[in-house]
Amino acid sequence: MRMLLATRNQGKVRELRQILASAAPHVELVGLDAVAEYPETPETASTFAGNALLKAHDGVERTGLATIADDSGLAVDALNGMPGVLSARWAGRAKDDAANNALLLDQLADVPDDRRGAKFVCAAAIVWPDGRELVVHGEMHGRIGREPKGDQGFGYDPLFTPDGFDRTSAELSPDEKNAISHRGKAFRELAGKI
Ligand code: IMP
Repeated sequence: MRMLLATRNQGKVRELRQILASAAPHVELVGLDAVAEYPETPETASTFAGNALLKAHDGVERTGLATIADDSGLAVDALNGMPGVLSARWAGRAKDDAANNALLLDQLADVPDDRRGAKFVCAAAIVWPDGRELVVHGEMHGRIGREPKGDQGFGYDPLFTPDGFDRTSAELSPDEKNAISHRGKAFRELAGKI
């Protein structure tokens, strides 16, 4: 069965393909690069699950394929769960990781070490052409540091140290991060339900 992962991020396509190879070998996963181009789905919902469902429904309407989509972000305790769904554009409209990280560090400048908890959250949704839908969540808990460290990963990884580690998620190899990440957990749970 052919399924779409509604993303242009080839890293995500590879990660989910690897998981599906053992969990659902009958699925042939393709990314947005492999289907007729359509405009990017606006992420206008107020929750990760809402945005994942918007993207998955759009994928089904545009391509007729069963479609998986994910939405993720960082929820910081001391900011009452923000930046949340605004993670990609926290410092403005552009997806500017350096500006987002600098703003987050400024906002937490006076927050002591014992109140710097945070988590990454991922919602992964699947919508089938007959209208059935399913959403699962994965989380990775940790804390926000005081300076960026590491050059792997993306986004807030250089500021985030996962629980049980003394390295930031930007200092983990892709395999180490996938094994504990919010997205890895959500994709593995979803793959088990296809
Ligand atoms: P997306 O849903 O994968 O597009 O992620 C939205 C935003 O959340 C990204 O632009 C990052 O700022 C942040 N984010 C999500 N997942 C991660 C992660 O694994 N590491 C670092 N930042 C992340």
